[in-house]
Amino acid sequence: MGSFSQIVVVGASLAGLRAAQTLREEGYTGELSLVGAEPHLPYNRPPLSKSVLTGDDDVALPGADDVDVHWRGGRRAVRLDTGGRTVALDDGTSLSYDGLVIATGVRPRRLPEEQMTLRGVHVLRTIDDATTLRRALATDPGRVVIIGGGFIGGEVASTVRHLGHQVTVVDAGAVPMDDTIGERAGRWLAVHHGKNGVELISGVRVVEVTGKDGRVSGVRLSDGRTVPADLVVAGMGVVPNTDWLNGSGVHVDDGVVTSAELFADGVSDVVAAGDVARWPHGLFGGELVRVEHWANANEQGAVAARNLLRGPGQAEPFDAVPALGTRVHGTRIQWAGLPRLADESSIVTGTPEDDKFSVAFTRDGVLVGAVAVNFPKEMIRLRKAIAAREQLAVTI
Ligand SMILES: Cc1cc2nc3c(=O)[nH]c(=O)nc-3n(C[C@H](O)[C@H](O)[C@H](O)COP(=O)(O)OP(=O)(O)OC[C@H]3O[C@@H](n4cnc5c(N)ncnc54)[C@H](O)[C@@H]3O)c2cc1C
Repeated sequence: MGSFSQIVVVGASLAGLRAAQTLREEGYTGELSLVGAEPHLPYNRPPLSKSVLTGDDDVALPGADDVDVHWRGGRRAVRLDTGGRTVALDDGTSLSYDGLVIATGVRPRRLPEEQMTLRGVHVLRTIDDATTLRRALATDPGRVVIIGGGFIGGEVASTVRHLGHQVTVVDAGAVPMDDTIGERAGRWLAVHHGKNGVELISGVRVVEVTGKDGRVSGVRLSDGRTVPADLVVAGMGVVPNTDWLNGSGVHVDDGVVTSAELFADGVSDVVAAGDVARWPHGLFGGELVRVEHWANANEQGAVAARNLLRGPGQAEPFDAVPALGTRVHGTRIQWAGLPRLADESSIVTGTPEDDKFSVAFTRDGVLVGAVAVNFPKEMIRLRKAIAAREQLAVTI
């Protein structure tokens, strides 16, 4: 173990908490500061688009309240000086470090500010966003428009529809989640939304959210139509929280670019983990990937912390298979690997018409991704095959 005495973790959510817990588990006894921009102890985000919107406030992350750290909640890191090894905070104080974990995650992409501040326009990333949205839904807004049919947009559409609201999803792609689950499963998902009473408008962009007397009134689309709305949820993707690293020398390009062992490019005392980290993935030919899933942040926080303590010479590369599962209108959808890298794909079991099927994605004959709808056993098999880099002959 290197001789550390002042480790700072910036970002107090899943990856940051797991890093802090792992540092202690590995026997690190020096100063440990956990800096988080939100005033809350680390909590779980997956329930925010599901149970929290329906009234259940349980977002606890086990161990969040008893990890031995100097807690700096409600404080934002505003600057990093890698030469002087200090992190400046937004209250004018600064923290010295000899080891640093960057776990600042991502934030939702926003509409232009004058549209974002209309009453009835929401984003969903934090517990405060979720409870605000829940209160707005309780006023029975009538027509809810969700901008973006991605993973979060799809989950919100499902939850809000099941609360009884009228829901329209506007998505720029030809089918929803094409880049994540591929064209076939995306086509199935479009039908699935329809069957469950969600109107899906595909292949058009929202060019403006319109308002009247300071309240949202609708969304204007790129094809000239306007869809009336009483409540809008903007689920238009995310931006990594890296502004505070500007000028620090840490390499930032759609996230913090790291080595396979999660060390920030060229800096041996700084590691990154979770949604903010972009690293060369050994299973995918060293392709730089950034993964926005719970299991990734959970495992990566721990590995980054262990690697920091061991130093680059004895660090282990992070090459877990990215994987995520969700339920949309009660149907289980899981995906693993990186389907977007594939040059071929094929349904390997079941049929979309039965709402039960799996799709395999290959690049140069090697399995790089898989999607399973209502087929958890099949997902276990395919996920193992991705980790083993199995050859698979599939046809489109
Ligand atoms: C609504 C929703 C539902 C989801 N559902 C699922 C799901 O079903 N399955 C799944 O696998 N994944 C899901 N996810 C994704 C999962 O929650 C994330 O992958 C995970 O939270 C990433 O953890 P993280 O610690 O890397 O980053 P984050 O959770 O983004 O946390 C980063 C933290 O850093 C803080 N921060 C940012 N900048 C600074 C700064 N300068 N100084 C100090 N602190 C800072 C932020 O305030 C934030 O608290 C969901 C996400 C959302 C929003």
